[in-house]
Amino acid sequence: MKDLGFKKEMTTGYYLDPFNDFQEKKITIESRYDDITGVACRILPYRVRITQKPDTDHYLEKSPESLCPFCADLFEKTTPRFIPSLIEEGNFRRGDACLFPNAFPYDPNNNVAIFSSRHFVAMNELTPEYMRDGFAVCRDYFHRVVEKNLGYKYCSINWNYMPPAGGGLIHPHLQTIAGYRPTSFMQKLLSSAQNYAAASNGDNLWSNLIALEKKADKRFIADTGTVCWLTSFAPKGMAGEIDFIFREKTSFFDLTESNFNEFLTGLSRIFSYLYTNNFISFNMSFYATMTNNNYFYVQGKIVPRFAVHPLGTSDLNYFEKLHNEIICPTVPEELCREIQPYFKVA
Ligand SMILES: [Zn+2]
Repeated sequence: MKDLGFKKEMTTGYYLDPFNDFQEKKITIESRYDDITGVACRILPYRVRITQKPDTDHYLEKSPESLCPFCADLFEKTTPRFIPSLIEEGNFRRGDACLFPNAFPYDPNNNVAIFSSRHFVAMNELTPEYMRDGFAVCRDYFHRVVEKNLGYKYCSINWNYMPPAGGGLIHPHLQTIAGYRPTSFMQKLLSSAQNYAAASNGDNLWSNLIALEKKADKRFIADTGTVCWLTSFAPKGMAGEIDFIFREKTSFFDLTESNFNEFLTGLSRIFSYLYTNNFISFNMSFYATMTNNNYFYVQGKIVPRFAVHPLGTSDLNYFEKLHNEIICPTVPEELCREIQPYFKVA
């Protein structure tokens, strides 16, 4: 089986440590590069832990229900509606969930889905039941654009949960994108898979990734049936990265309701781990093709996000923004071991 292109290099340096009588201290930095994602990162030898759960009250004070466009008072008046040729009713609804066009779009087809009218939902309350209808209205929308033959080939479901992850409103909401072209990161995943197939007599990269990571048993969190959960070899965030891959699902429309239920159960287990470890924020992206593409399995990533107190310092800095390398004081293999027990509960 062709290897995955995970590269590692150890470098060491020394300084005189003021906390140990200025004795010489050795520091080891591990540089990693992942050929599949093109992510370069540095795994630092010290682990940063959030010792106290950040206070979310000040977010609630600055973003009250009365000013929230997703809460009942303003919702009907201030949320955009779809043009009638897409949906006569103006938006997609299921139960309390609703999907509507983004008022400040990043893309011509950028929508927002709220799960419910509840303004603030803590991470430990993001249960599969709570999330189900929010993801279902995203599915309804993708099914509708296919019925309308709009020709879109790539889609994603995205989530900035809470301000440290770029969430502009604390009211939980997903964002969908559908288009003719993949985003640049999705394009990278697609070309990696095509190159891998070309170099290995047509092998599927994702199938081999799952098999090799399962065998290596270092970053393989769990296999929940159709979905495999892994920690990324070279994470895209300071607190690591959790990946999910839907085995052999080569289009969004291959996914069944039961696949979604399995996915949401796994997602809630990841959130439960994050909540226990004092995280209050994350980014998630779920990438899929909209026509069957044998090179690509439906998949996604979750990156926990945090602000470093007391100053609320960002977890992004010049290294990530201007050198395209991620500083990661979280060892992916340790993160995997810490999350595994959350997948063992009944
Ligand atoms: Zn609200």
